[in-house]
Amino acid sequence: SAFADLGLVGPLLKNIRKEGFESPTPIQENAIPLLLEGRDMIGLAQTGGGKTAAFALPTLQRLSETAGKRRPSTPRALILAPTRELAKQIADSIFPFNRGLGLKQTAIFGGAPMGKQIGLLRQGVDVLVATPGRLLDHKKRGSINLSEIEIFILDEADRMLDMGFIHDVKAIAADLPEEHQTVLFSATMTPNVKKLAQQILRNPAYVEM
Ligand code: AMP
Repeated sequence: SAFADLGLVGPLLKNIRKEGFESPTPIQENAIPLLLEGRDMIGLAQTGGGKTAAFALPTLQRLSETAGKRRPSTPRALILAPTRELAKQIADSIFPFNRGLGLKQTAIFGGAPMGKQIGLLRQGVDVLVATPGRLLDHKKRGSINLSEIEIFILDEADRMLDMGFIHDVKAIAADLPEEHQTVLFSATMTPNVKKLAQQILRNPAYVEM
């Protein structure tokens, strides 16, 4: 199968080709069509199988369908990652796919100056990658608005819970608008991940690598 068969369109296919991806991985083949439809989804996937592109490509496509209509933009997609390293890595992976789509992305995580992040957020952001603690710091200061999130992605949910972020994740989820797509990726399906999934996903599809 090819990326074009999964429902991805022109500008994204061009960016995918430029990245040198020739054909989708199994998780991409299964997840991309579901996510393009707007389904909630649980992905059971280890790092290395291409899960980042599996959630990033449909997210960019869905947002680009209505890009440029709102300025300055508050975030429309939120990707939560447990660590700053992973947040950076996700942002770096998304960047080449995001060329020419008219979408702004930024990453906010602990250990970096607040002021610079506040400045970036003020300029407008469509795709926000964040760690839970720093995101809540911005919430408290009023420097971030989550009321227009359309797509919420939790990456490495099992690690996020192991690191004690359950309350932060729930506080963030509770702050999102009623209508949004939720996607949860985890390497393992522990009882706590299952419980969280039951609380924040609606009729999710399951995709396993
Ligand atoms: P991930 O599992 O998202 O961390 O991705 C692991 C690595 O696989 C990254 O370096 C990606 O750039 C690469 N990758 C993801 N999808 C594809 C694909 N369809 N073809 C070739 N490489 C890919």
